[in-house]
Amino acid sequence: TIEYINGKYLSSGEAAVPLEERGHQFGDGVYEVIRYYNGHGFMLEEHLERLEKSAGEIRIDLDGGIGRIKEIIEEGVEKSGLKDCYVYLQVTRGIAPRNHLFPKETKPSVSMTVKPASALTRDMVENGVAAVTHADERWANCYIKSLNLLPNILAKQTASEKGCYEAILHKDGRVTEASSSNAFIVKDDTIITTPLSREILPGITRAALKDVCDTAGIRFDEQHFTVREMKQADEVFITSTTSEVLPVTTIDGDPVKDGKPGNMTKLVLELFQARTQNR
Ligand code: PMP
Repeated sequence: TIEYINGKYLSSGEAAVPLEERGHQFGDGVYEVIRYYNGHGFMLEEHLERLEKSAGEIRIDLDGGIGRIKEIIEEGVEKSGLKDCYVYLQVTRGIAPRNHLFPKETKPSVSMTVKPASALTRDMVENGVAAVTHADERWANCYIKSLNLLPNILAKQTASEKGCYEAILHKDGRVTEASSSNAFIVKDDTIITTPLSREILPGITRAALKDVCDTAGIRFDEQHFTVREMKQADEVFITSTTSEVLPVTTIDGDPVKDGKPGNMTKLVLELFQARTQNR
């Protein structure tokens, strides 16, 4: 495991955050999680572009731009010696005496960890995971990958306490996404997912999946759907950098169709995995 903060590498557990770090006090920052497969950062450019967008939206200036961030990531991965790993990178507004207003001459902090990728268990992939539905209690700008994850962690904890892996979020019955992944249903061989808007994170895995579908001629519809439609769908799955493509086989305790991962989910998972290995 590699730990990096503002130009320094520390051995594991040594890195400390100053009390008056704005990420710590306000959650005033943004982050990315990138998966390296076999030494290659999967959709690294797309992650960097999203980071630039997130930082820009909260008016954090990336010192040296995403070019510098890319160098930091590549150096960290190289130092780690890991070929299959997760890079967690966050940028905050920096260190300054606590005050809601932006500090004037403070430089953003960049910190990163590089950790071995833990493969999803066979059980999760082969049998699917359980999910609960949960009210989407987040703010209006979920397209920004902000450090403020309180509603997300509360929803996921609730899911876990009910023996479930993920919480699928909805606004008055209309599904947005899940607590740490994007949500999809399959109906009559068409994959349906919530359209991009300020309400959801534009998932990089979602984008990869869309491209996979375009290439393979699978219908991919960006359309709203309800909790009710999801529960009556042929298949349900979620995507994220860490979960890849995971079948959801029960929702709120009830099986989706026969409670087994569906054929379309298995197909797009296979196509997705081929892509992670080939580039
Ligand atoms: N939505 C939310 C709320 C998330 O936290 C994540 C994962 N960080 C995703 C979607 C999936 O995004 P990605 O595919 O880029 O990991």
